[in-house]
Amino acid sequence: MAAPRRYARLADGGRAFYALVEGDRVRELPGVPFSGSDRPGDSRPLAGLTWLPPCTPRTIVCVGRNYRAHAAELGNEVPRQPLLFLKPPSALLPHRGVIRLPAVSQRVDYEGEIAVVIGRTARRVPESRALEHVFGYTCLNDVTARDLQRQDIQFTRAKGFDTFCPVGPAITAGLDHETLAILTLVNGALRQSAGALEMLFGIPALISYVTGVMTLSPGDLIATGTPAGVGPLAAGDEVTVSIEGVGDLVNRVEADANAAPQ
Ligand code: ZN
Repeated sequence: MAAPRRYARLADGGRAFYALVEGDRVRELPGVPFSGSDRPGDSRPLAGLTWLPPCTPRTIVCVGRNYRAHAAELGNEVPRQPLLFLKPPSALLPHRGVIRLPAVSQRVDYEGEIAVVIGRTARRVPESRALEHVFGYTCLNDVTARDLQRQDIQFTRAKGFDTFCPVGPAITAGLDHETLAILTLVNGALRQSAGALEMLFGIPALISYVTGVMTLSPGDLIATGTPAGVGPLAAGDEVTVSIEGVGDLVNRVEADANAAPQ
């Protein structure tokens, strides 16, 4: 396997571009990196550039209850098949963006997750060919209004608020999916820690299952579920989702100042 490569989407003033990240320097790419034919430009400092979500998915597919201990902590049975739901792309938030707590919820939780970034159009992909359709991996925080999730049965409102899908900071290509491990910290205190091998349905099985339902395109995301240890966020908190080799996705939490009174 080639050495892992880290890709980011960045903004320089109003201009957005993809770049190869090499330590604290970046090399701009002329287009999108998913085709694999990138010709990086000259090296320049990362400092002064703004992080954007590392891809622009049309579809963000999420998997519920994919770790035994997490299903148990919320009083749920382990599903017989992957439990799928969607988050809207309008919820995307970059590294360093601010998670806004909606006034209609009294309980907003973090859910640190390993996300798969699709690299090639994927439809009805068998498990044995699933990894050919992966561009890389990134960190995702499936922020969830837990009280609304319980009220609604459907997950759309609870998981769909603007800013409820922090992703990034970068995408790393060339990692072995079985070695991926996820950590979540709130204000520096460790809250979640798990390896990809603890998933009930592993990454190839998820890609096969999801693409048996819907076509995925380059830049689409599969959030692979959260491990045990979910808990609430409060205004003023800083939440970090971390995958070794990908980096730390850090977001501050604030009340939604513009929320209409209920
Ligand atoms: Zn989740």
